[in-house]
Amino acid sequence: MSYINGETPKSKLRSAIVAALLAAVIFWAAKAYISGLEPISAERESYRLGTVVRLTVWGEDKTALDHALDDSMAEITRLESLFSVNIADSDISKINANSGQFVEVSPETKEVLALAVKNAAMTHGAFDPTIGPVVKLWGIGTKNARVPSDSEINAARALVDYRKVSIHDKGGRTYVAVGKGQSLDLGGIAKGWIADRIAALLKERGVKSAIVDLGGNIYALGESPRGREWKLGLRHPQKPRGEYFAAVDVADTSVVTSGAYERYFEKDGVRYHHILDPSTGRPAQSDLISVSVISKKSADADALCTALFVMGLDRSAAFLKRHLDIQAALVKGGNNAVFITPDLKGCFKLTDGTMALEVLK
Ligand code: FAD
Ligand code: MG
Repeated sequence: MSYINGETPKSKLRSAIVAALLAAVIFWAAKAYISGLEPISAERESYRLGTVVRLTVWGEDKTALDHALDDSMAEITRLESLFSVNIADSDISKINANSGQFVEVSPETKEVLALAVKNAAMTHGAFDPTIGPVVKLWGIGTKNARVPSDSEINAARALVDYRKVSIHDKGGRTYVAVGKGQSLDLGGIAKGWIADRIAALLKERGVKSAIVDLGGNIYALGESPRGREWKLGLRHPQKPRGEYFAAVDVADTSVVTSGAYERYFEKDGVRYHHILDPSTGRPAQSDLISVSVISKKSADADALCTALFVMGLDRSAAFLKRHLDIQAALVKGGNNAVFITPDLKGCFKLTDGTMALEVLK
């Protein structure tokens, strides 16, 4: 028997095992190091829901990420076909075309409508999904935008009342009716609801890091690919798109912002924006220029930031005092003061040094 370098077959085997184990440790360490620095990402961008939808996911398996993204985009298309007022055979269009009668709807439509009515009741109608007649009358964001007459506004406003939405279950099916002449518009909540759905779909597919961005309605899934909280910028209400006035550190949370700068038209030097006050039938005369809501549930964040915008600063502050579970950042016009709820203190950073920060009591 010949021995090389004084090794016995037994010690040779031991060395080989140690070398193999070492190689494995180095391989996994290197992999973790590389994936820590350069995780694989995949992205889809498309014009949906009347806005730019951008989904970005991070992980280790590119094929799985691509499948998850394709399925998410298909799901957004499917949900848009249920909720859009611009699609003639959507559930919402059918309800509106048959006002005063019950119409069978999908479980998804039932869910988003129930949530819309809940948020309407909670905000005493500052958010109201039956805003449809007022939205249609003003046509803000469409080529038919105009300033209606007072009598037209009063007639449309009289139709807005979420308490007349009936949701009825029978034999495993759901039927919805709105009052005669009423119409639903889910523009203030459906993007949020869809963001929640897409985040859940991605989680089911094992995705641990993702940004679901439905036209600025953001859901930051899990943690960032570096294993830290996401740092999300809050859009500056007075600067071009892409500029921020503050940043929030969040994980598995949604951040939604509503502002008067998003959709509007100007007539005789007056700006008419798309956040409408159900009590006046006109664009909300708010002293706020931007509202962000930070919440685990994007649908609630979406509806609530529309509602807080309508309420204005004082009513919002009183509302937020009664609902301590809601986190919000409110920007007041004029002096550009920023007001945040107490629990945001730890994760909110003002980046525009010209703005003053105040914590709501
Ligand atoms: P938010 O403040 O969240 O909502 C404002 C919108 O909500 C208004 O535009 C109005 O629709 C409604 N609203 C206004 N005031 C109130 C109130 N007090 N209470 C409740 N709701 C209110 N836009 C297009 O141009 N073309 C499309 O084809 C199109 N399709 C869409 C399909 C779906 C399913 C959805 C959800 C939206 C669609 N949009 C479309 C609308 C578009 O993306 C809107 O700009 C968007 O929904 C408004 O969101 P926001 O975040 O800017 O404002
Ligand atoms: Mg909204």
